[in-house]
Amino acid sequence: MQKKHPIQCQRCKADIPENDEREFNGKVICEDCYMILLSPPKACDPWAAYCAKSFSEKTGSRPDLNPVQVKILQILKETGGISIQELSEQLELPLETFERDIAALRHMEKLRAEMRGGRKIICLWQNND
Ligand SMILES: [Zn+2]
Repeated sequence: MQKKHPIQCQRCKADIPENDEREFNGKVICEDCYMILLSPPKACDPWAAYCAKSFSEKTGSRPDLNPVQVKILQILKETGGISIQELSEQLELPLETFERDIAALRHMEKLRAEMRGGRKIICLWQNND
């Protein structure tokens, strides 16, 4: 009897156990790769490089806002939207110290960025008033 050559996964190059091969986009792949391709990890928004994952791990579920984040939301509520430079002035903090807070708030859908007259404005996700 002729020995069957093991099928190799075209994605990870692993030998696929018999009958475990899957087909995806015309490629023969192993079951692990199939699962990965079927449920790709959620891509992070490049503007908000800080992934929501890191704080949900820390707190378990809904993250609490830190004082800077609370202040940011307060300023956005008062101003109805403000540029990042103006926000920096109001917070009296350099941008790099609260960038992560902006990104975190964006992931929590508390704020968003929009273009107004060619300028990038940070504003509340929803105006509740
Ligand atoms: Zn594979």
